[in-house]
Amino acid sequence: MKNYEENGECSGSYTSLIDTGADGSMVEDPPQRRIPKCSIKDVDSLARYFPMSSREKHEFHEIEKRYQLQITPHYFSLIKDINDSNDPIRMQCVPSVKEITFNSEEYIDPLGEEKTSVSSCLIHRYPNRALLIVTSKCFMYCRHCTRKRLWRNGLRETPACDIKKAIDYIRNNPEIREVIVSGGDPFTLSTVKLDNILGKLSSIDTVKVIRIGTRAPVVLPERVDSGLCYMLEKYDNIWINVQFNHPREITEMSVAACRKLQKCGIPISNQSVLLKGINDDPAVMKELCEKLTSIKVRPYYLFQCDPVVGASHFRTSVFKGVEIMEKMRGHTSGMAVPTFVVDGIDGKGKVPLSPKYLMSSSKNSIKLRNYKFETFDYQNPS
Ligand SMILES: *Cc1c(COP(=O)(O)O)cnc(C)c1O
Ligand code: SF4
Repeated sequence: MKNYEENGECSGSYTSLIDTGADGSMVEDPPQRRIPKCSIKDVDSLARYFPMSSREKHEFHEIEKRYQLQITPHYFSLIKDINDSNDPIRMQCVPSVKEITFNSEEYIDPLGEEKTSVSSCLIHRYPNRALLIVTSKCFMYCRHCTRKRLWRNGLRETPACDIKKAIDYIRNNPEIREVIVSGGDPFTLSTVKLDNILGKLSSIDTVKVIRIGTRAPVVLPERVDSGLCYMLEKYDNIWINVQFNHPREITEMSVAACRKLQKCGIPISNQSVLLKGINDDPAVMKELCEKLTSIKVRPYYLFQCDPVVGASHFRTSVFKGVEIMEKMRGHTSGMAVPTFVVDGIDGKGKVPLSPKYLMSSSKNSIKLRNYKFETFDYQNPS
């Protein structure tokens, strides 16, 4: 069976170097905009696609020793100007020297996932849902990834015996009604392997919902092929969560991938990470979320970027997230407004942060303000 790492490695569909100019005419890309045919997996390959000084190359080699590097051709093709280190697409996939700047407030496992793990691959933090890590592999390694700890012991699929133990635990704990199949990216597994895991999970009567977390529609949309859809369609309780962080990631191909999954009856939600210089701007976030609703992908969470190693440069003040919420609520469809959450250090869990709308309260009355900052009293039935 085809393992989709291969697909990510060589999809071969990005050979065209033609772009459309501002006036609609076809223009040849400059050489530095060459798009790789295969995923870029190391600094030396990356150096073929953009000019790197020898110092920069040396620093990138240091980063490569510590963190994974892999960029799919599709995602790479979305970078507008490879020489622009502030390009929001480039920032998410190309290393930055800031990753190896010492920062005392960084954790290898900020959410204490190891501590709340009941087995090597199952995190049971909330009473009625559990998170199953089926692989540490991804199609692309996001520079801001919270689960970098999984990269430390080498990239691998979770061994079948560990999956079995986790599934036994889920079966023996009937309060678990939802299993989040995560990683890594579960779609890096072959369709057959994933089917096998989903089949076992859905054979447990007490598991009512299966949620899959994947970035495939964003970084390798061609992974969503008919074989995968045919398999997923068999299950009637699957939800998929994706991670679009910037409006430019919503491309014709990613939309097609989402549509295919939706045609299988799968609702898709989005979990963005609030990233400095990428989407920490109310206008960008509003555009992203409105675009998502137009393709029927529901903005679910906006995450404060966790204090994970190598990602301090992406972190913003939590009040920026609150401000974004404030500038969206009421100003756009409620369906386009995600919940801004901070994930507590060491497994404390997700905490929503929202603007203050309750100005004061007494026993029978509360004072509220609306999105236009108009205040009014509201009778509170006792
Ligand atoms: C985020 C998360 C969940 C799911 O939380 P929801 O609020 O239901 O989306 C479950 N388990 C773990 C460990 C998580 O990090
Ligand atoms: S897809 Fe998710 S798990 Fe994989 S590198 Fe990106 S953020 Fe991390």
